[in-house]
Amino acid sequence: MVPKELIQAIEVGDVRKFYKSTVWKHKRKEILKRDNFECQRCKSKGRFSKAEIVHHIKHLRDFPELALVNDNLKSLCATCHNEVHPEKFEKFRSNWEERNEPITKERW
Ligand SMILES: [Zn+2]
Ligand SMILES: [Zn+2]
Repeated sequence: MVPKELIQAIEVGDVRKFYKSTVWKHKRKEILKRDNFECQRCKSKGRFSKAEIVHHIKHLRDFPELALVNDNLKSLCATCHNEVHPEKFEKFRSNWEERNEPITKERW
């Protein structure tokens, strides 16, 4: 269960308070261990990367009550984590895609 004060902190947008909490630090370690410190997204593609981030499958801000639920947590490498959070790059994305598109099209 997520402590009430942390749910409230997340709801008002203070996610830092959550990430600094002891319960999260413990949970994070537990999940990394469960996933053998491997990025689960790379693993599903047959690659190996060291996991650096424990990601909330259902976003923390939208589902604060799932913040510490094992099934909602997944170890990821930094690259994959950026890919599962495209909203972080919204501003830059259109430019980046335009520049990269021709390369993808010419590949056979
Ligand atoms: Zn990865
Ligand atoms: Zn995430």
